[in-house]
Amino acid sequence: MKTLKVSIVTPDGPVYDSNVEMVSTKAQSGELGILPGHIPMVAPLQIGAVRLKNGNNTELVAVSGGFLEVRPEQVTILAQSAEKAESIDIERAKEAKSRAEGRIQSNQPEVDRVRAELALRRAINRINVFEHRF
Ligand code: ATP
Repeated sequence: MKTLKVSIVTPDGPVYDSNVEMVSTKAQSGELGILPGHIPMVAPLQIGAVRLKNGNNTELVAVSGGFLEVRPEQVTILAQSAEKAESIDIERAKEAKSRAEGRIQSNQPEVDRVRAELALRRAINRINVFEHRF
């Protein structure tokens, strides 16, 4: 089976480096599935999961937006933050979710609603990746 080299990099350093058979994730334009030999492209990503498939095994990485660059044998994801499922602190994500929900529900004028909604989406994404709900 042909493979692609996938690197997921954040401002804090590399998070994932491996060869996989298929990468799939959510671009701003919709769901993307990338196999070896894919045409070169660059796409902005949504807050979501990156699924890395090898045989029957699928690993998940939570990413908080960023960019995906595809070359025929390599995929590079530059993300604002990225965590493998096993390195997610689930309590922290649940607290971030409650905090963001509280801010959104408070309806106070000093709350930056867009910022709170993005924090909520990051937290839900981490919870889903931790629970392998993708
Ligand atoms: P919090 O409010 O808990 O900081 P956040 O969504 O604002 O959440 P980010 O700004 O996206 O956090 O991330 C800051 C750093 O903390 C990044 O390096 C990210 O990988 C890490 N991080 C955030 N939440 C978690 C988590 N639940 N488990 C592991 N690492 C996390």
